[in-house]
Amino acid sequence: MNNQSCAHANTRVGIIGGGIGGATIALRLSQQGANVFLFEKETSLVNGPPMCHLHAGGNLYREISDQQCIELLKQSISTARLYKDAIDYRPTIVAVPLKDNGHPNDVIARLKTLQQEYANLIDKDALNQVLGPAAHYFTLYEREQIEKLASLPTPKKPETSEQWMIAFAKNANLNQLKFPLILVQEYGINVFRLAAITSLALENSQNCQLFTNTQVSSVALNNGNNTWSIEANYQGENQTFEVDYLINACGFRTGTIDDMVGLRPKRMVEFKAAYISHWSSHQNNWPEIIFYGERGTKNGMTQLTPYPNGYFQIHAMTPDVTLFEDGLVASKCESAQPQLPHQFLAKVNNQWDPQMVSNRTLKAIDKVAGFIPSFNNATLGGPPMFGAQQIPGIDATLRVADVTFQSNRYARCEIVKASSALPAANTIVDQLVAQGLLPQGGKPVNTTSVSDSLTETEISQRAEVLAIERCFPKELTGRLNPNVI
Ligand SMILES: Cc1cc2nc3c(=O)[nH]c(=O)nc-3n(C[C@H](O)[C@H](O)[C@H](O)COP(=O)(O)OP(=O)(O)OC[C@H]3O[C@@H](n4cnc5c(N)ncnc54)[C@H](O)[C@@H]3O)c2cc1C
Repeated sequence: MNNQSCAHANTRVGIIGGGIGGATIALRLSQQGANVFLFEKETSLVNGPPMCHLHAGGNLYREISDQQCIELLKQSISTARLYKDAIDYRPTIVAVPLKDNGHPNDVIARLKTLQQEYANLIDKDALNQVLGPAAHYFTLYEREQIEKLASLPTPKKPETSEQWMIAFAKNANLNQLKFPLILVQEYGINVFRLAAITSLALENSQNCQLFTNTQVSSVALNNGNNTWSIEANYQGENQTFEVDYLINACGFRTGTIDDMVGLRPKRMVEFKAAYISHWSSHQNNWPEIIFYGERGTKNGMTQLTPYPNGYFQIHAMTPDVTLFEDGLVASKCESAQPQLPHQFLAKVNNQWDPQMVSNRTLKAIDKVAGFIPSFNNATLGGPPMFGAQQIPGIDATLRVADVTFQSNRYARCEIVKASSALPAANTIVDQLVAQGLLPQGGKPVNTTSVSDSLTETEISQRAEVLAIERCFPKELTGRLNPNVI
């Protein structure tokens, strides 16, 4: 290390919030030699709202622009390279119900654009091929093909696109659907494994001091605007930490820190929940399934996410399952923090009425059974996965956002999807280099996966500990298809 980089290496960066955003930024900055302090008020990292879809192409969202879908594709590929051991390599079936106004053709042109973008990314760097060959990015199935597949035995471990369609072909009510059906290489991302990987990697990092169970109560600029004082409750005592750069990665509470800094950007926050069901312990051969629908209506989109041993997570974008009346709120001019009604803040703090959990889970099961009749014997499989999600600005449909810089010494990471965490971290690294706070030419991104220095046993054991600590079945830490790349 030369003298110049030694000086840079002393740059102290305080990150408030240890969700996927803050944890990924901490990993990137500590790799680049910054002296990182990561503050998380909960007992463990990546313990906020859930995530289960990687969103490689944004195919769940008909309403967003092609450009947002392309960004999600690129960001998801980098994320899948960084966190390869948190990815579940199983495809997604996209189906348009008969009662929906749309048609499969509405998204096929966009899928072709995404396929071409994916091919270009592979041409640039062969290691970008994390979603299988570009030619197989999506496949269309007409009704006759599905009926033929229904007569084949269901494979225990599907590998080809056709094999992934068989369980669905045998069980779905095809009379409810428009054709063709689409199978797309949209994969899953496992929140418990992400939490395990980021925790283990940061605990091993010599450049990061990790403060869990530590709530930041105030921040203030001092020394002629060149340093920040962060006050936090650490081990039962108020302590002050001085840093050269401050990063706000507080998720849906980002506005609380903006208020302390005296900034008032507009944003929204939405409370949502997904439900855990258990079908039958032998159902290990299902892909993700998306039944499109108009958000907020009783026919809102239904999403069935498979886990090992018959566990399935369900989202239904209807007011009585995933969405909640008054669950979407915007900031007002007096505060940058949107105020969620108290009943949602109570839920964020795990105070759910068991009856509501049961009712909503059963309604979620009913929604799926409307398309897959045999699913009607699924039962409650665990507590809901819920949280409040931040959306910067005033467009509630925004799905791609990363970081904003409000001064030379303050960055705000505000992501809507987990795959935007890495681009946010990279932009912050570039900014700190440009400001002379980090050395030029640090470690390039995308060359290694975070988990290359970890063993599978370490990751899976930690993921199980976290799932049990958070009261979820340990099966949710498993992947259906771990070893594809
Ligand atoms: C139901 C639901 C399903 C979702 N599904 C997906 C999905 O499938 N795929 C996907 O990509 N995204 C999904 N999301 C969105 C995803 O969960 C978020 O984008 C992501 O969690 C945001 O990460 P974050 O790090 O910005 O925020 P968070 O995960 O909220 O992390 C912020 C952290 O800051 C901490 N914090 C706040 N204030 C303080 C303080 N003062 N001091 C110390 N710590 C503090 C909090 O405890 C928290 O851990 C879903 C969201 C919901 C609600």
